[in-house]
Amino acid sequence: MDRQQEFVLRTIEERDIRFVRLWFTDVLGTLKSVAIAPAELEGAFAEGIGFDGSVIEGFARVFESDMLAKPDPATFQVLPWRGDTPGTARMFCDITLPDGTPSIADPRNVLKRALAKCSDMGYTFYTHPEIEFFLLKRGYEPGVKPEPIDNAGYFDHVHTGAAQDFRRTAISMLESVGISVEFSHHEGAPGQNEIDLRYADALTTSDNIMTFRTILKDVAYERDIYATFMPKVFADHPGSGMHTHMSLFDGDTNAFFEAGADYQLSAAARQFIAGILHHGAEITAVTNQWVNSYKRLWGGGEAPAHLTWGHNNTSAMVRVPMYKPDKGNSTRIEVRTIDPACNPYLAYAVLLAAGLKGIEEGYELPPEAEEDVWSLTQGERQALGIAPLPGSLHDAITIMERSDLVAETLGEHVFDFFLRNKQQEWADYRRQVTEFELARYLDRL
Ligand code: GLN
Ligand code: MG
Ligand code: MG
Ligand code: MG
Repeated sequence: MDRQQEFVLRTIEERDIRFVRLWFTDVLGTLKSVAIAPAELEGAFAEGIGFDGSVIEGFARVFESDMLAKPDPATFQVLPWRGDTPGTARMFCDITLPDGTPSIADPRNVLKRALAKCSDMGYTFYTHPEIEFFLLKRGYEPGVKPEPIDNAGYFDHVHTGAAQDFRRTAISMLESVGISVEFSHHEGAPGQNEIDLRYADALTTSDNIMTFRTILKDVAYERDIYATFMPKVFADHPGSGMHTHMSLFDGDTNAFFEAGADYQLSAAARQFIAGILHHGAEITAVTNQWVNSYKRLWGGGEAPAHLTWGHNNTSAMVRVPMYKPDKGNSTRIEVRTIDPACNPYLAYAVLLAAGLKGIEEGYELPPEAEEDVWSLTQGERQALGIAPLPGSLHDAITIMERSDLVAETLGEHVFDFFLRNKQQEWADYRRQVTEFELARYLDRL
């Protein structure tokens, strides 16, 4: 047993932990959890805990359903919101086959492979997500319109009611499981909030996002309200994105920084942005994986719908944020497509792969879009070479199907499962007759 594993066992004894939750994520980004007794933990570290992978979305075909969840001791945290006695703790797991080889279906493993390639190229990949979400009076009830818990707007201070100290409670919980929060504020739509996590390596960030979604839903539940990461809840209000700031470090040096260059962006940074734009359409099915995601992208409210980059341009897919001339190490780019209902492991894996491809191939960065892309006509956009992002989940999977980059990054198994699953989702959606159609056509046609 190594020192981290010993530390976990000691803590469990000292803090009287009775339940250890082993967490992992299915291909669609749903958190899975199995609780074990502390006595099982030594075995779990040594061999893993067996489970039936065939019932987890995307994990296995029925004939190879035996899988093992092996806890990663570096992710051990005592869960504060479950009360102190008896205590509950959690660890994220890596999924393996019975012979110990990493499961090709495990999203954590997909991201680890992408990160290994990044480190072979000499870089560490840092990410800092701005997570937007809605607080509603209740969850889904058929025929009942969702209702936000307040009518506040961007940066508003909320004086009363459930919204008032929701963020404070949620952030205290996040901090107590080792997730540092940098900023938080009310967002543009009623009931919409944003919490920004401190930057970390992309694997830690992805684990943190999974924990974040659970903690927020829990804190809301305790107050009789409901938290949702659905990208577009209200047609007439902005949707929820998960803008992510990214940088590559070479040791202690920010590889995106070059003193005196345009916007302080190094050649590697420019090529990384070029890679994200060049492969932007084919990775969108992964960064924006639901039918509803495209209602956000094409519904205004500062969501990007075109493959552009810009300096402080909030209509751009990739933005280069304000920089401070004396702070080279904070140089970064902000990707604005990705939404908070993605599978973060897979989304960061494809974004990283696209950016690294730009560096490998030395892609040239197209000129930045200086004006609001929405203020241009279709013809002007065409003349400037500004291409749209996919308009629907169907468009996105049609483009992804032909992508070598996504196939290589996800691996054949996840790639095929993902496409099949999303084709089914699109087929289910397409056969609906919606309220829109009834209202628009029934009397008129
Ligand atoms: N909610 C917007 C989006 O969907 C972003 C708004 C903002 O953070 N400026 O991307
Ligand atoms: Mg923000
Ligand atoms: Mg925001
Ligand atoms: Mg932002």
